Amino acid sequence: MSNEQPKIPQATAKRLPLYYRFLKNLHASGKQRVSSAELSEAVKVDSATIRRDFSYFGALGKKGYGYNVNYLLSFFRKTLDQDEITEVALFGVGNLGTAFLNYNFSKNNNTKIVMAFDVDEKKIGKEVGGVPVYHLDELETRLHEGIPVAILTVPAHVAQWITDRLVQKGIKGILNFTPARLNVPKHIRVHHIDLAIELQSLVYFLKNYPAE
Ligand code: ATP
Repeated sequence: MSNEQPKIPQATAKRLPLYYRFLKNLHASGKQRVSSAELSEAVKVDSATIRRDFSYFGALGKKGYGYNVNYLLSFFRKTLDQDEITEVALFGVGNLGTAFLNYNFSKNNNTKIVMAFDVDEKKIGKEVGGVPVYHLDELETRLHEGIPVAILTVPAHVAQWITDRLVQKGIKGILNFTPARLNVPKHIRVHHIDLAIELQSLVYFLKNYPAE
């Protein structure tokens, strides 16, 4: 990943793929400029936040003109490394893992799951969504430096054990879909997505803070 880009706050960085996807669609439909209000409506981020975010990218919107779509797109492409594909390995080809393999982020052309691991003999040696499934025992031999990211869709009780092996192999980032809280050295980034908690939290908000 490129180090030449200016440092942008993490919260802003997390919104980049959202902006990027929307701008790509705008560009495809032939639009040259976009206002922060239009963007705000489309990506559901308030326009003050968008203006602040975009100021980090050196994109200063002009009153009555908005932002230049081409400029923003080329910035995002560079920042998100769209020219370079980041290869990903997936662990656990269950219901969720299978869905990811079939989907394979084909709409974001900068990430690709290139291999998967499981322990179920019925799944090993097969391909799911065109991605080969190997036995977990092959983690150390198959995983290489060119694969900096892992997705965990295994049962929670094996998540830490697999994580420790990934750390040994030099993984840089883990997208953890298991409920397990993972311990990793400081230089490794873990993003945790607990779908059950997200759903519970949505239901809680619906009950306690109904939208106006
Ligand atoms: P999901 O949680 O994705 O809905 P599921 O209910 O189909 O999955 P789980 O029991 O959660 O099944 O297991 C997910 C997958 O992880 C299964 O394919 C299972 O064979 C696999 N798995 C279990 N243990 C390991 C392990 N140690 N390493 C790799 N994969 C494993």
